[in-house]
Parts: sequence; C-alpha cells; structure tokens
Amino acid sequence: MSQQQQLFDDESAQPIPWEEAAANDRLSAEIVVNRPLSTGFHYLVPDGLRERLQPGMRVEIPFGRGNRKTTGFCVAIGPPPKLRQRLKEVASVLDSEPLVSAEMLELTAWIADRYLCGWGQVLESIIPAGVKKKAGTRTVQFFTVADDAVHAAESQKLPAKQRTVLDVLIEAGAPMRADEICAAADCGTAPIQGLRKKGLIQAIRQRVDVQEIETRRVEREEDLSLNDEQAVALSSILTQLRSGKHRTLLLHGVTGSGKTEVYMQAIREVVSYGRQAIVLVPEISLTPQTIRRFRTRFDSVAVLHSHLSDSERHWYWQQIARGAVQVVVGARSAVFAPTPNLGIIIIDEEHETTFKQDTTPRYHAREVAQQRAMLRGIPLVLGTATPTLESWRRVQRDIAPEHSYELISMKKRVEMLLLPPVTIVDTRNDPSISKGYSIGRALRTAIQATLKDRGQVILFLNVRGFSPVVWCRACGGGVKCPNCDITLTFHRDRKILLCHFCDLETEPLSQCPQCNSPGLQYFGTGTQKLEQEIKSMFPGANCLRMDSDSMRRHGSHEEALDAFRNGDVQILLGTQMIAKGLDFPNVTLVGVIDADTILHQPDLRSTERTFHLIAQVAGRTGRSSRGGRVLVQSANPSEPAIQFASQHDFVSFAQHELQHRRALVVPPFAQLARIILRGPVESVVLGDAERMAEELRKTIEQQELRVRVLGPAPAPIAKLKTNFRFHMQLTASSIQELKKLWHSTLCEFSVAPQVEFVVDVDPTNMR
Ligand code: ADP
Ligand code: ZN
Ligand code: ZN
Repeated sequence: MSQQQQLFDDESAQPIPWEEAAANDRLSAEIVVNRPLSTGFHYLVPDGLRERLQPGMRVEIPFGRGNRKTTGFCVAIGPPPKLRQRLKEVASVLDSEPLVSAEMLELTAWIADRYLCGWGQVLESIIPAGVKKKAGTRTVQFFTVADDAVHAAESQKLPAKQRTVLDVLIEAGAPMRADEICAAADCGTAPIQGLRKKGLIQAIRQRVDVQEIETRRVEREEDLSLNDEQAVALSSILTQLRSGKHRTLLLHGVTGSGKTEVYMQAIREVVSYGRQAIVLVPEISLTPQTIRRFRTRFDSVAVLHSHLSDSERHWYWQQIARGAVQVVVGARSAVFAPTPNLGIIIIDEEHETTFKQDTTPRYHAREVAQQRAMLRGIPLVLGTATPTLESWRRVQRDIAPEHSYELISMKKRVEMLLLPPVTIVDTRNDPSISKGYSIGRALRTAIQATLKDRGQVILFLNVRGFSPVVWCRACGGGVKCPNCDITLTFHRDRKILLCHFCDLETEPLSQCPQCNSPGLQYFGTGTQKLEQEIKSMFPGANCLRMDSDSMRRHGSHEEALDAFRNGDVQILLGTQMIAKGLDFPNVTLVGVIDADTILHQPDLRSTERTFHLIAQVAGRTGRSSRGGRVLVQSANPSEPAIQFASQHDFVSFAQHELQHRRALVVPPFAQLARIILRGPVESVVLGDAERMAEELRKTIEQQELRVRVLGPAPAPIAKLKTNFRFHMQLTASSIQELKKLWHSTLCEFSVAPQVEFVVDVDPTNMR
C-alpha cells in the first residue's frame, strides 16, 4: 500500500497541516430538505456562490446516493464540520434574497423539534407558494449610468439625443425602464442602444410587481372610550408590553364584552413605537365586519385570508417584510407573517379548532405564537369567551410560574346587556320530533312569536346536506362511500349521494348495494331538509341557508349576510358558518336544532366542544336592547356541558371538566401524540403498525421512558379515500419523552412502499 493511499484510508490518520489550512478557508452550508429528518446536511459552498448564499435562501444540492438534484433551505453557513467523508458542493442558489429571516429560522427549528417533523418540511410549508415562485412579479430591463460614464462622456462628442438620454438618467439617479427614458427624453430607443454600445449606460434586470393591490380606504373612526373592565384589561396588556418581557395573557371575556376594542387600543400603542401587530382569527371570522373594524382604525392593515391569489399573497408578504404594514390580520398561518419588528400577537377566539393545522407540520398556532412572542420578548394575548382547557389550566393556582398565564376577566357585556336566557328543550317526548320533524313544539312556538314581533331568527344545525343516513330496510345496512368508511349523505338539491370526506358523488341508488333490495330510506336531518321543513312551516317568512354547499361562490357569504342585515331574510339557518362572530341586533331568537351531534363523537374534547358551541351560538342574540333568547334541543338535557352552557357558567364547567381530565390522565394533564398509518392494503398497513408499536415499546423499556402506547387499532374512520387507516395513541408525561422516541425510533422508521405514517403531536382531531 502506498504512502498516499494510507493517508486517505487509515481511519486514525491525522489531516496533514496544509489540508487543514485549506479546509479552514472553505465555507460549508447546512441544508435542510423537505423530508421528515431530524438533521441537516453539510455542503461546501463553491467560491462562485460565496458572495450570494445566505441563510434563509433555497439552494439546489445533489442529494443521496444517486445525487438527485434536490431543493433545500440553507439554514446556516460556517466552517466545514470535521467529518471523515468528503462534502459535496451546493449546485446553485435559487433566491436573490433570503426568504426567511434569522428569527423565522429559529422559530421553524423550534416547530420541527416540538412537532416531531423535519425542519425542511416546516420551511417548505410556511412560505406561501406565491412567495417561492415570486408570483405576480416579472423581470424587467432597466438602464443605469455606467460607473465612469460622466467622466467618459466628457471626452466624446455625443449626438444630442444621446446626450439628453444620459442627462435624464443622471438626473433620475435611479434605474429607468426604456419606455420611461423615451418619454422623459422625448426620443426613440435608438439613442439608448447607442449609449449602451459605447458602454456609457448598462442594462440590468430587476423583478417588479405587475400588480399593485389597492389598499381600500375606509372612513377613519376614533377609539372608543373604554369602560372600567376594558380599561383594566388594557392596562394589564400595556404594563406587560412596556416591561419588554414575554408573557401570555388570557383575556376571558363574555361575548360582547368589547375584547376587540381592547385589542385595537393595545395595538395603537404598539404602532406608536413603530412596531407591528399580528392578530390571528379563525378563518371563519374573517368576515367583512371584523376586517372593517381594523381598517377604520389603522392606516395599513393586511388581511391574509384563504381567497388570496398567489400574487396577492406575495405582494402582502413583501409589504409586511418591508415594515409597511402596521397590523396583519389573518388565519392560522399569519403567525408566520414576516413582520420586521413585531410588538404584540393577539389570538382571538383562542378555543377555535382551526388554529391547529392538520397537515405536516401539525402545529398549533397558539404554541407557535407563544414561542415567537418569547423569542422577541413581547406579549401574547389570547381572547375568548370560552378558553380551551389547556389555557384555563395555566391560570390555575397550582401551576408552575414558568407555565402560567395571566388571567384578565371581563364579565359584563358592553352597555350592560344581559346574556340571553337559554332554555334546554328535552326532545325525547316531543310529539313533532317523534314524527320525524326537526323543529319541536317549543321551538316552533318561539319562532312564530319572534316573527310576529318582527324579530329575526338564527337556527343552527351542524349537519350539511339533506339526509345524513341512507339505510336499507331489508338488510339493515347503511350505504357507505366505497372509498371511505363513512355513510353517504343525500343532497336533494343536486340529486346526488355525496361523501363528505372524499367528495365522491353518485346518483341516488334504487336498490341496496349489499342485498339488492329496493326501498332505501333516508334518515336524519341536514341543513337542506331543515330548510324545506321551515319553508313549509313558515311560508310567510324568507329563509336563507348558509353552509359550504350554498356558499360555494366567492362573495356569496357577504351577499347572504347583507340580505340578513337589511331584513330581507327573517330566518337564517346553517352550519358552523353562522355560529360565530355574527352581530345582528335584531336577532332575538337562536335555536340549536340538535345539541347532541358533537357530544357523541369519539373524542376527548366532545363535551368541551359542545359547551363552546352552545356558548358561541348563544352569543348571536341579545346584542341590543331588544334582548333575545336561546332554545337548545337535546336528548341529553342533563349533560353537564349543556347544563353549564345554558347557565353561561364557563368557570364551573371548566372546573368540572378539568377534574374529569385529571382523573383520566388526558390533556392538559398529559402529553398526547397520535400516529396514523395509512395505505391501500389493509394487512400491510396493519403489519407495519404492529411492527412500529413493538419497536416503540422496546425503546420505551430500554430507555425507561414514561410513555404508554395504545394500539394499533383501526382509526375511527377506518378507511378514507381508499386508504386503510390504523392508529396508535402515545401518552407521555412530557414532550421530552416523545422527542426521545422520535429521534431513536420514529424519524427513520421505514414502512412498506405504499404505506405512509404521520405523527400528530397534541392531536385535536381523533378521527
Ligand atoms: P367581543 O369581541 O368581546 O365579543 P366586541 O368587541 O365585538 O366584543 O364589542 C361588542 C360591541 O360593543 C361592538 O359593537 C363594539 O363596537 C361595542 N363596544 C365595545 N367597546 C365599547 C365601548 N367602550 N363603548 C361603546 N361601545 C363599545
Ligand atoms: Zn340491503
Ligand atoms: Zn368517500
């Protein structure tokens, strides 16, 4: 063996000094890719890219054994690590500026760690597609004066036109497009080309926005003068803000207590420091009403809703990053808005389930907001009438100070309006309900009285379509979607059977798919059937249905609400869409058609959600001096969630429910994660699930982790979009224990080719 070979092959060989010196001179970049990996990879930065590459930019790298060209994010640059194997080189840099700041890199690394996924996956997901492809911008040619042009031009005799063009450019002091130059110098393009040939001017290419989004101007309104409770709430927030330290404040205020006014005045101070605010709202409450309220108070408000086009989103992203936006209002993903100098984060309706993302990274916006606020030393305000039990737990006396939130309570409605009385109607003995109607006797009488009084009615039903159950009388089987383990819903308006999970549509069947008998029956009531019932019961009233079927067209939401606001419509009925945020003073009756729809779901939060639902729906009435009342139909009238909700007693409900959860050792008293495996062949998925469970249990034993594994078992929806699904539930005493399992067993667990698995930390959806 030659001396040379030994140097490279002998594992114990020390690098010779000149090699070390050369290495020290080199730069390497840490790259993360869009895979569920817990580490990044080091690549050398070739000399040609040294000047250009910065952390936060995307690069192309040769990846894996086959050196496949792969896009990744550069997350750090530094001297190469002392590794034995030779580093590959970065192939190219895809961005001219970093897409994310250092602050965002830190936050996304935290998310990957907290939610057990790849850093590259997080980065890939949080940067809007429109930003990545620079939607709505294009490269345009500009001309600038060459470096020594002024000097060089003196020694030449330029034609008059060229002289003028040069003067125009010198005067402008900034790059100009050809058409701008021609207009200013009153010439054609020939002089421009002439100057360019002489090297006196240069062409450069820059990206520009093709579209400027108008910022809608609205009439400005003054801040209101606060009542006592609001003033106390504001001063708690401002005290925290001025301290320059992070704290989470839970603003527990009944609906109509004026929380939004408090947010706006807190933001007023943040804006006065030249800083920005992020306000997160559930997508559903991004109503024109909310948006308008912010636009009347601040000069520049960016509203990030799901209907934005790629180029609009990109434009807003740039404006926000530039610091040109004072207030960002948006749904969950607005927590990543690239504000350069964030001063406060507010989450309104903190209890809403839409704050949890149900694709990778499965983050909860509240936790991410808290981490971002902590990194910046700014307050996070959580506002709601019905806090989650996770948040409520953190204002209890026995919580450790580092986990505690500060509680601010607002118990009174503005203008001292009373919360509406809530009556629970037991549907078990109601003659109309037994006959198959959805509206019982009491609710019918109440609607009649309200219409007679010229009041308006809101009716809530959580089931869309006409009939949610199609059933065979002969064999007793339900008709299910062939792709999913879910019964099909009859949609009468479109004359189809529809799967609400995979959107499969079929024509109504004339016979049972299992036993071929004719005579399928439709059961249960969806919003379409309710609409029909109301129209025949109250022929004199105008009734409008709002659900995702009737509100498909963009803008239809606003139109419907306008029709209700101006009184053309007397009865508004619908799904979740109408449970929240609406504020119509003339609504004097709210009816909940079936309070039990959520109660019976196999979910540890089903009682909490039932409470939230009744409380939120009740908040839609009693919003003026006309008063209002609520009727809740239920076949479980003694259920504590329904009882406490009817008394508007969140505190007692929370106490009751926390005791229950503590006894069961479930959140917020334990750390949950759920693993879902899915694939087209049932036995293969199950095999992988069992193997994974076994490995997990082995690791838990070896490392003495305090984690309990339940399952695998078929998921409540055992088949979805032709994939069979199995799940496991992990219960741990802390997230640290789960992280150890992830790093040692899960992150590189290999499953059969068509099987996929996801890990959902803090799951809120148990289906
Ligand atoms: P919440 O967000 O707590 O449900 P809102 O902020 O929507 O309550 O306030 C309810 C209503 O009371 C709104 O119409 C709002 O304009 C009004 N309001 C809030 N604060 C005041 C105040 N200090 N003086 C007069 N009206 C107020
Ligand atoms: Zn049958
Ligand atoms: Zn389906």
